[in-house]
Amino acid sequence: MRLECIECGSKFKLHERFYTCPKCGGLLEVEFELSELKRKLDRKRLKVEAPSVWKYRAFMPILDESKIVSLSEGGTPLYRCNRLAKEVGVRELYVKFEGANPTGSFKDRGMTVGVTKALELGAKTVACASTGNTSASLAAYAAKAGLRCVVLLPKGKVARGKLAQTLIYGAQTIAVKGNFDEALTIVRRICEERKDIYLLNSLNPFRPQGQKTIGFEIADQLGWEVPDRVVVPMGNCANIWAIYKGFFEFDLVGLTKGIPMMTGIQSEGSMPIVDAIKRGLDKFVPVKKPETIATAIRIGNPVNGPKAIRAIRASKGTAESVSDAEIIKAQKLMTRLEGIGAEPASASTVAGLKKLVRRGTIKRDERVVCVATGHILKDPEEAIRVSERPREAPARYKEIIKLLR
Ligand SMILES: *Cc1c(COP(=O)(O)O)cnc(C)c1O
Ligand SMILES: [Zn+2]
Repeated sequence: MRLECIECGSKFKLHERFYTCPKCGGLLEVEFELSELKRKLDRKRLKVEAPSVWKYRAFMPILDESKIVSLSEGGTPLYRCNRLAKEVGVRELYVKFEGANPTGSFKDRGMTVGVTKALELGAKTVACASTGNTSASLAAYAAKAGLRCVVLLPKGKVARGKLAQTLIYGAQTIAVKGNFDEALTIVRRICEERKDIYLLNSLNPFRPQGQKTIGFEIADQLGWEVPDRVVVPMGNCANIWAIYKGFFEFDLVGLTKGIPMMTGIQSEGSMPIVDAIKRGLDKFVPVKKPETIATAIRIGNPVNGPKAIRAIRASKGTAESVSDAEIIKAQKLMTRLEGIGAEPASASTVAGLKKLVRRGTIKRDERVVCVATGHILKDPEEAIRVSERPREAPARYKEIIKLLR
């Protein structure tokens, strides 16, 4: 295994501590020697063992398995959603529920690999900027590993559940008077200057290696078949790339055939990648003041944008934007038709799917998977705000039965 720059193709050793290409500044990706990967694969075990991140360890860039830091991440449910399918108008719809991870979002899949890598590299402190889920996850895995954890959050913009997790897991938390993009710029600089602090934002090339397992698990749970389409919310844009890469690698070693059309969703208040895809551009224009109810994708300058554009183009997928109102509507459809509680960013996938089916971009006979990236309890205030208030009544049988009529 090695690190490779997606822009200039330069190759580096796996244990080099680079976040981006030292030659051109491009994004890095872990690449495999195919013969070595095929040799490491235990195909029999893959067919019987239950899904989890470390089930697919042959695909992980880990040199020392004794250092693995795990809270049993992955193995999340793939719900078949017949009522929701009827509502949005597709033949077969599934929701991959990432809220079932240890800290309630898919970030745990990346952090188990990223924090393991931090131990391998001898780091004592790990750091990130976050809209909330990355910091919750990093704080938990750093605690498990016995590492110091530093996080920068945009002040006043982090959903309550995520903030609560970050604080109680013991991360040193700094509320930055600015947005996520500004916080990330600062933490990147800190980690370039201070070699003792290891950066675990999604710019880190190892985290997406864990997130690839969303793709692996979808194929595994569909009986080693690949769906027609996978719909993913795009924030900093590592996840859509990671899932694409998962399907790509399964195809490469012959475990499955083909790659689903990767379909990325952003919010109207923050849609730089959707814009680039619709205009057929290779470069995107950052959004200065991103705004959306879906705080997990409230990112105007996605560092992994070039990877997202590649994943969408290479898989013949597409991208679409949705309004906050559409997100809230979709969130209610998911809870009320399927019992799936997902935070707003996750619900954007169903909102986007609905829009694309209505437009005829997505065919009604497709088999689609939406990735519900985070749990509804991440943002309880939003859930309460968009719901009907409970009616109050005195503690008397007669009064209450009257209300039920
Ligand atoms: C991080 C996150 C996203 C965005 O993922 P990216 O890899 O940054 O594109 C979407 N939804 C939730 C719930 C998240 O935590
Ligand atoms: Zn390069």
